[in-house]
Amino acid sequence: MNEFKRAIAFLLCVTVVVGFSGGLSAAGETASDDSSANASANASAEAITTEATTTAVDIATSIDATTEASSDATTEAATTEAKPTIKWKNKTESIKAGKSYTFKAVVTGSDDDIKYSVSNTNVATINETSGKLKAKKVGKVTVTAKAGKLTVTVEVTVKAKKIICLDPGHSGSVAKGTEPIGPGSKTMKAKDNSGTCGNYTHVPEYKLTLTVAKKLRTTLISRGYKVVMTRNDNKKSISCIKRAKVANNAKANAYLRIHADSIGSSAVRGMSMHYASTSNPYIGKKYGAANKKLSAAIKKGFVKATGSKVRGGGLNARNDLTGNNWAYCPTTLIEMGFMSNPTEDKLMQTAAYQKKMVKGMADGFDIYFGYK
Ligand SMILES: [Zn+2]
Repeated sequence: MNEFKRAIAFLLCVTVVVGFSGGLSAAGETASDDSSANASANASAEAITTEATTTAVDIATSIDATTEASSDATTEAATTEAKPTIKWKNKTESIKAGKSYTFKAVVTGSDDDIKYSVSNTNVATINETSGKLKAKKVGKVTVTAKAGKLTVTVEVTVKAKKIICLDPGHSGSVAKGTEPIGPGSKTMKAKDNSGTCGNYTHVPEYKLTLTVAKKLRTTLISRGYKVVMTRNDNKKSISCIKRAKVANNAKANAYLRIHADSIGSSAVRGMSMHYASTSNPYIGKKYGAANKKLSAAIKKGFVKATGSKVRGGGLNARNDLTGNNWAYCPTTLIEMGFMSNPTEDKLMQTAAYQKKMVKGMADGFDIYFGYK
C-alpha cells in the first residue's frame, strides 16, 4: 500500500469515526446513566467503524491490485518483446600459426546449445563444442558461434609463426660478372655459376633445387611459416648478393640455400651443411652461433627423414660463400647429396625421396625454432 492509498484509508476511517462520535455524544447527553443504551451505542459504533475500515481497506486493496496487475502486465510485455541474443564473451582477431585460442559465445533468451565452426579448416580448426581453435597456417578464417537461429561471427587473421627464405641454388640463366665475397671485402667472386648436373639422370642442379624448394615451400606454409623465394623459375638470373638481399628485405628469421654436390669420384656420397661460423669476418659475431645451430638442426631433420649418409661431420664452417656472407639472418647452405654418385643422383630425382628430403628440412626448421 503506498502513501496515497494509506492516506485515503485513513481519511475514510476518520470520517466514519468522527461522524459516529457526534451521535454518541448526543445520546450520552440524553441518557448518560443508561448503561444498556451506552452498550448498544458502543456496539453500533464498533460495527460502523469496522465496516468503514473494511471499506477503506477494500478500496486501498483494490487500488493495490490494479497497480500490481498493471505492473505485471508491463513486465510480461517486456519479456515477450526481448529477443534472444548471442554475443562473444571471448574472441580474438589475430593469432599466430601453431597457437590455440578458446572462443566463447554467450546466449540469452534461448536454451539452444552453442556450436562453433570455421570457414576454412586448412587455415584453422575448431572444436565444435569447446570453441578451442587451433591455428594452422597463414590466412584468414571466419569463426562462427551458432545457437538455434542465432549466430555471431568474427574474422580471424592467422599470422606466420616465422618467415623463411628459400634459395633454390643456381638458375637456367646465370648472373654474369663478379661481386664482393662479403660486405667491405675487396675479394671478388663470380656472381653465380651454372652449378652441376646429374651424371646419370642428366638433370641440371638448378632444376632439382627449384623442384625441391617449391615442395619445401608448400610444406613449410602448411606448417604455419611464411616463405619467401629468391627465384620461382629457371629463367631468372640472380647473383648471390641479390639472393641474400631477398632474405634480408623479407626480414627472414632463417635463410636456407638449397644445392646438390658434385666431385670427381662417383663413389663419394652424403649430405653436408655449409655455414658462416663465429670466426667468419663478415657476419660471424652476429650470426655465427645461430648459423651453426640452424645447420645442425637441418642436418638432424634431414638425416632422420632420409637416412642419408653424412659427408665428414656434415657441418662445415666456410668464409668463401658470398650468399652466406651477405645474409643478415641465421643462414645455412645444404648440399642434399652428390649428383656425381649414381645412387644419390637417381634417388634425388624420385618423388618419394624428394618428399623425405622436404620433410627432413621442414623438421629441421621446426627443431631450430623450438616447435619440435
Ligand atoms: Zn650448387
